[in-house]
Amino acid sequence: MIENDTIAAIATPPGKGAIAIVRVSGPRAEEFASRLFVSKGELRERVATYGTVVDENGVAIDKGMAILSIAPHSYTGEDTVEFHVHGSPVVAREVVRALIACGARYAGAGEFTRRAFLHGKLDLHAAGAVADLIDAQTRSAARAALANLGGGLANEVRALRARLAAILEELAGAVDFPDEVPEPDRRVLSGELDAIAAELTRLQREGEAGRLVREGVPVAIVGPPNAGKSSLLNALLGEERALVSEIAGTTRDTIEESITVHGVQMRLIDTAGIREHADRLEAAGIERTRRALEGARVALIVIDGSRPLGGEAQTLLEQTAQRARVVFANKADLGTAGATQLDPPPHVRGSVRDRAALEQIREALAAAAWGGELPDVERPHLASLAELDAVAQALDALGHARQTLRACEPVDLIVGELQRAFAALGQLTGDAANEELLTGIFARFCIGK
Ligand code: GDP
Repeated sequence: MIENDTIAAIATPPGKGAIAIVRVSGPRAEEFASRLFVSKGELRERVATYGTVVDENGVAIDKGMAILSIAPHSYTGEDTVEFHVHGSPVVAREVVRALIACGARYAGAGEFTRRAFLHGKLDLHAAGAVADLIDAQTRSAARAALANLGGGLANEVRALRARLAAILEELAGAVDFPDEVPEPDRRVLSGELDAIAAELTRLQREGEAGRLVREGVPVAIVGPPNAGKSSLLNALLGEERALVSEIAGTTRDTIEESITVHGVQMRLIDTAGIREHADRLEAAGIERTRRALEGARVALIVIDGSRPLGGEAQTLLEQTAQRARVVFANKADLGTAGATQLDPPPHVRGSVRDRAALEQIREALAAAAWGGELPDVERPHLASLAELDAVAQALDALGHARQTLRACEPVDLIVGELQRAFAALGQLTGDAANEELLTGIFARFCIGK
């Protein structure tokens, strides 16, 4: 899978900037640099050297810095040169063009990081973290990605996989040579499988929290007309209004806006946004509510607490009783006839005009979204859906194995399940990663990374 050509690309974002970086990686990187970079002294490893970048004919393109890294001490694990030039798209493109003229090839999306993976510079999990860090929308998302960048998770999973391998080995002996190798003690075996499953469950929990931090929590604001949904949305947004964006491509019957609670992005989906529909057609409003709730992790239910509860409020409360929700009895300044009727009592009673109520709503949203303490995402954790899926598969297989064991069935029946768990975890460490998986991971990257 190791490729032998030398690749080049602009590593900085498109457009104008203070500097632009052109990166070249592969066996001929140093040779290209010696042709295209003129400086007083020779390029030295990992030292920024000032000089002139010239094209393949020796014509000056720009003055700037070049940094040489010699394999394996570089991001990709190959010889690499970075040219730091003035941040003009024309200049950067000209440098790449000159490199191509010398024999380099345009790098594909994520190809530098892919090479880093193939050269063992980072594991697959850390490679995904590079993309997550670049995509991070909040400070906590960036911190969570950074935790994964250091690697470590693959080793944690590898250790669990090794424990499975040890069990499989023991079982294989007992299955193949029943007369010579005694069957493992079922209680011990069961305990070990429980311990492995507990570790995987912890990884799963931390991974879910990581996803929340990275992707934000979808919250649907629902409630009868005039309860104060729009007012609440505006009040919650408050000074954050500047961050507001309407998501392109959605129909104009729901609007999504974001606030940050404890560093986590909450994506508020406002069903009240456009009200003519509801006036015209009651059914449209109900359908909107249903759809908003479908995609939401938390339902933020707004009720007019000043009047006795209407049928619509009752229905909504019944429908959402089983899910993560925050019930807000609004308009406390006008009365509490409805609020006192609520059973169980609402999470928050107050008015959108009251700052304390807004703060309570924010706290209640956090509690509903991740149930109190947010697990620590500043240590390596599962990040992608594929990783979470691999762990879910492993847990499923382990569950079956534990059941078989408990049912006192022959131990050879659990071998297949343990092998399934072993294979699922292999996907995760990259030890059993296939081309499809790799392509999926690196397709997320931009060119030059
Ligand atoms: P929606 O249809 O649920 O989006 O409700 P709106 O946010 O449009 O609010 C309906 C009406 O109730 C508006 O006239 C608001 O000004 C008013 N309203 C909202 N919240 C409060 C509140 O806490 N106290 C009072 N007195 N009026 C409120």
